[in-house]
Amino acid sequence: MLAADWGHLFDAARACEAGGADQLHLDVMDGHFVPNLSFGPDFVKMCRRAVGLPLDVHLMLSRPDLYAERFIDAGADAVSIHEEADCDIAATLSVIRGRGKRAGLVIKPKTPAKAVAPYLGMFDYVLVMTVEPGYGGQAFMADVMPKVREIAEMSRQSANPFPIMVDGGIGEKTIGVCVEAGATQFVAGSSLFKAPNMAEAIASLRAAACGSKF
Ligand code: ZN
Repeated sequence: MLAADWGHLFDAARACEAGGADQLHLDVMDGHFVPNLSFGPDFVKMCRRAVGLPLDVHLMLSRPDLYAERFIDAGADAVSIHEEADCDIAATLSVIRGRGKRAGLVIKPKTPAKAVAPYLGMFDYVLVMTVEPGYGGQAFMADVMPKVREIAEMSRQSANPFPIMVDGGIGEKTIGVCVEAGATQFVAGSSLFKAPNMAEAIASLRAAACGSKF
């Protein structure tokens, strides 16, 4: 939703739902963990009113522990927090799950795969950033793909296999390598909102993902 036309947010959220999106991804920024500010729980409430889609809230916050429950109260179905955040990660994941929501663990492009290992079994999905977090519209970083492969291998060997989501610069030209590396969920912003037709853009993205050789 960060990439939507903010003059028409309600309609933008509904266009995602009508266009066949699986969920809405909401990027929350605190101006501290990342050098940008985006929105708070009221924005999530607006999205909750607009659509029935699951709301996936990505907290780019230094202290997600202080805010996770407020976003759940606002209507989040899944909340992801950064491994690099300045809080007790295990406890925060546990709070999210304790509220009956899916808990995600996010890593930035330069954070190694092994950072995920201590939390295996404590999260429901891993979100791998394929751009530096903070702004929409950045170019996809293909050099993150070996890390996605490593985490996919960790999932296969885990007692509790988990999905891997990729976020940043995802479009028709970049989704294939993500699928090949083992990602199964894809956050697309600019590539969908800049397209003339949302439904066609989502369909093309799905076709590009399914058409990759794996
Ligand atoms: Zn995100």
